[in-house]
Amino acid sequence: MKTQSQSTATEIETAPSFDVQRIREDFPILKQKVHGKPLVYLDNAATSQKPQAVIDTLTRYYLGQNANIHRGVHYLSEIATYEYEKARGKVKLFLNASDSREIIFVRGTTEGINLVKDTYGRKFIGKNDEIVISAMEHHSNIVPWQILCEEKGAKLRVIPMNDRGELLLDEYEKLLNEHTKFVSVVYVSNSLGTINPIKKIIQRAHERGIPVLVDGAQAASHLKVNVQDLDCDFFVFSGHKVFGPTGIGALYGKTKYLEQMPPYQGGGDMISSVTFEKTTYNVLPYKFEAGTPNIADVIGMGTGIDYVTGVGFEAITAYEKELLKYATEAISNIEGVRIIGTAEEKAGVISFVLGTVHAHDVGTILDQEGIAVRTGHHCTQPVMQRFGIPATARASFAFYNTMEEVDALARGLGKVKEIFGA
Ligand SMILES: *Cc1c(COP(=O)(O)O)cnc(C)c1O
Repeated sequence: MKTQSQSTATEIETAPSFDVQRIREDFPILKQKVHGKPLVYLDNAATSQKPQAVIDTLTRYYLGQNANIHRGVHYLSEIATYEYEKARGKVKLFLNASDSREIIFVRGTTEGINLVKDTYGRKFIGKNDEIVISAMEHHSNIVPWQILCEEKGAKLRVIPMNDRGELLLDEYEKLLNEHTKFVSVVYVSNSLGTINPIKKIIQRAHERGIPVLVDGAQAASHLKVNVQDLDCDFFVFSGHKVFGPTGIGALYGKTKYLEQMPPYQGGGDMISSVTFEKTTYNVLPYKFEAGTPNIADVIGMGTGIDYVTGVGFEAITAYEKELLKYATEAISNIEGVRIIGTAEEKAGVISFVLGTVHAHDVGTILDQEGIAVRTGHHCTQPVMQRFGIPATARASFAFYNTMEEVDALARGLGKVKEIFGA
């Protein structure tokens, strides 16, 4: 892999050459066979595979660095603390946040959203207030807000979308009013692939003084994220979708909001002093990191971020665009296929239905061919309802996927058709 210093959004002149075979060498799991066939892993929207460097980081940590952080004066504790805080710095650079104190480690996107709901939401959203989400949210950006609405007597409003899976911005504007207290929208849809015009969505909310949370779970692995340029107030993502470990992710929040928010959980590390009469809370970001955190996986996530920025987002975006184009053509050429999600701006996700064959059967036959796709509602049941279908099969790509793997998928779908006479 060509390592280079972290590229910035302004560095667009020369995309580094992209050698997918070389990149695949970094992902040991991709070499295996499944049911006697080479693994074709097309379930990256559910979770990405991990490069050797991430696996090595985890091993190195447990072999030689493991200790609890922030409290020890001994050698290992200092090393672990140093590595943990270094990873925070990597996340800050990855998102282009202005300050490491704005980066809070959480279990993932789901916990990040719940944190904001429990702290900002509980404090600032009340009876008859409105929260705006979109028609293509993941359940983790629907259910927490529903719970809050139920608790507070607030209302959930939903930005509709068209038949291509694009949000209707005019309708969005109509939803914004003096009752709107919060907007929470997905950047890239995991079930449709749509890349939303998130900057515009944020601007329009800000014109009315409304803060915006961006669900960046899918965006983080496909696009160069820049929270200062987007001007979002909160941004969440999961490490496991960005080539890092499971059980770890990050919440970015603007200092001005984080300072005003009450703690999320109480416990060790989030305090500066405790007596039975009164506890004072620790400074940012520790106020939101109660208890012993997931130290190893924070550090592993840092390595995943190093890896992806080393490959470079100009190269990734350009390559994935080619891959998506090739796959869209290959799949839509198959008679009986209907692609769900045909937005102008899309990331590497293709959801589809094949005639009357149930998505689960499509997935099962493909699995026999060594091809991993996801089938079902993809944690977006309202999207399925919008398109009047129970489920889709979904192929989702990462930069280590190849055109040959797309061909294998197309052949696999041919087999499904033979078997089901579709
Ligand atoms: C995966 C995903 C989530 C949830 O992420 P977790 O890692 O399960 O917490 C939320 N939103 C989108 C768009 C996702 O793809």
